[in-house]
Amino acid sequence: MFTVSLSLGALIYTLSACALIFGLWLYYDFRDRGLYETQRRRTIFHCIRCDKLYSARAGTETCPCPRCGFRNERLQF
Ligand SMILES: [Zn+2]
Repeated sequence: MFTVSLSLGALIYTLSACALIFGLWLYYDFRDRGLYETQRRRTIFHCIRCDKLYSARAGTETCPCPRCGFRNERLQF
């Protein structure tokens, strides 16, 4: 009887640990996907005058540099 309740307790413990890990995994996966989507929707600009890297909202083809004001074209990857 003692052995049964012990293994049952171990089973519940293992299941709750698995549920916790699964929950954390889902949480981080969801969070990283949101982060990735936000970064993907931004366009990276490189200033050819003062060498500064900056980003702007996606869809913009040209954006003035925040440091020197030079209007740069979108980086092509
Ligand atoms: Zn600049």
